[in-house]
Amino acid sequence: MNIRPTPEIKEDYLNLRLKNKNINKIFWPKLNHFEKMFQENKHMSPLLYYKNIKDVHIHEAIKLKEEKTHNEGYFCAKKNYIWVKRKFNVYHELLHLSSSIIEDNIHYCGFSQGNYFIIGEGLNEGYTSLLEYRYFYCEGADTSYELEMIMTCLIETIIGQKTMESLYFKADLFNLIIELENYASYNEIYNFISKLDLLCEIINSNILYYFFSPSINILTKSLIKFIEKCKIKKLNDDLQNETITKEEYQKNLDDFYNIITKYLCENYNSKILTRKK
Ligand SMILES: [Zn+2]
Repeated sequence: MNIRPTPEIKEDYLNLRLKNKNINKIFWPKLNHFEKMFQENKHMSPLLYYKNIKDVHIHEAIKLKEEKTHNEGYFCAKKNYIWVKRKFNVYHELLHLSSSIIEDNIHYCGFSQGNYFIIGEGLNEGYTSLLEYRYFYCEGADTSYELEMIMTCLIETIIGQKTMESLYFKADLFNLIIELENYASYNEIYNFISKLDLLCEIINSNILYYFFSPSINILTKSLIKFIEKCKIKKLNDDLQNETITKEEYQKNLDDFYNIITKYLCENYNSKILTRKK
């Protein structure tokens, strides 16, 4: 499958959120808080947020039968509809809304795209959770995408936070791949994205988890191996171009392995990491 460039966003330079009567007022403080993220981070484009927020429906759980499901919430791009179980779940769904555009029946959402077959779901849910954690963390909240979140956090240490955040709000998987092509081939990157999708699917489905949980470690290890290769290539390039010193090289690499040790080995499996001495 070919990864498509994101459609151009041509309009919606105005935030018409307050004119939208389909957003319950109980969500207003959360929306104010959410908009502060765009005000304070000028590298994040608010255009998709403006485009979608003006006629979105946002509902809480109590009144609806969805309460019975296990989902914490969802965003349906086609209907431009958000439902959440608890109010703080709205941040995650607003991040999806702010990075969503449909064109020619293809739904571009953060770092995922597709119609029936979606590519990049793992990358997208992981990075959405990372942003949710970074900007809207609240006590008691947890994510179903922890492993995916750690993977995207490691990728971000290679691409750079500003670049990656900026690409996310333009739903620009195409250019994320071009960034990564500095460190790996297109096929290796595509493979990585597909494996992360598979991992995400196994972890988040009871039935798949039951049958395939032993493959989680194998998948994780192979994903880390890819990221490690890119990271080392990036650091070697930086050293060669003299954008970092030898000491910075070492510190950067140590920080990278510390994230893996702290969040992967301690929480999941100590055998995941094969650190090169
Ligand atoms: Zn999500």
